[in-house]
Amino acid sequence: MAKRKLSRRQQWRIQKIQDERLVRAKKKQQTISSDSEALINTLHYGVVVSHFGATLDIEDNNTHNLIRCALRQNLGTIVCGDKVVWQHLSNIPDGEQVQGVVTALEARSSLLARPDFSGQIKPVAANIDQLFIVTSPIPELNEGLIDRYLVAAELSRIQPILIVNKIDTLTIEQRLLLEKRVKVYQDIHYQILYTSAKSQHGMDSLLQQLSGKVSVFVGQSGVGESSLINALLPEAHIKEGLVSSATNKGTHTTSVSRLYHIKKTLEACHEPIQASLIDSPGVREFGLWDV
Ligand code: GDP
Repeated sequence: MAKRKLSRRQQWRIQKIQDERLVRAKKKQQTISSDSEALINTLHYGVVVSHFGATLDIEDNNTHNLIRCALRQNLGTIVCGDKVVWQHLSNIPDGEQVQGVVTALEARSSLLARPDFSGQIKPVAANIDQLFIVTSPIPELNEGLIDRYLVAAELSRIQPILIVNKIDTLTIEQRLLLEKRVKVYQDIHYQILYTSAKSQHGMDSLLQQLSGKVSVFVGQSGVGESSLINALLPEAHIKEGLVSSATNKGTHTTSVSRLYHIKKTLEACHEPIQASLIDSPGVREFGLWDV
């Protein structure tokens, strides 16, 4: 079905209705906070961990359970990482997979967007704190591309951090040359991490940098993004299965993006690390269009 183009006034009205819903939801939460039963049964807050087709999987802020939700009309495009208000459906028809409805969208701190096939800018992921720009000696460092990622990150109000991966492939001389080349970014106060997904070098520093934040990884194909993400999330496939079993539904083969949680304890300092990562083909290609 063709999408109706909304006038500015209609968009303003929709935004106003949403804002009012959020205020009502917050007020209601305050007034019934003494009755936790009623609260659990009425309004819930959560984060979108996966978006596919017309439905979303929401991780509830209190229970951390995954709830499959439909979307109330006119909320606009909701993406992975979005913070939302959702409500249980009072009657779930037999065989129906949807358990709740997303009724309001909270304000976003940041938004990653990219053009779709028709050239229209579409949101890809929301509320991201850090953008890790992965580079490597093979394929060779591409400063033009790094600059584009940096501009795109700054425009999106997301902290960019540079990763130079595959350092296990370098001799001492080659590493010195590479460090000299990326010093230009250090000089303008961008942080640089040296890693090897193969030898695990630098993974603890990377984990510490990820801690407590929502991050995404971007980079040219072949630099080792998948290898780094797999090293951080070796259980990602199992997790995907868990998502399905938690909602008691099939696997989301059409899912465009997913939010993962990393929980690790660093051996060196026994420090527990909790971090979130959003990964999707759309996110990975972010910044490759002309900013
Ligand atoms: P992506 O396209 O950026 O996701 O890159 P991949 O993770 O698929 O890696 C591309 C190739 O580089 C694969 O053959 C990996 O095994 C290899 N690779 C990834 N990380 C490293 C690393 O740290 N060191 C070495 N030597 N090879 C790596």
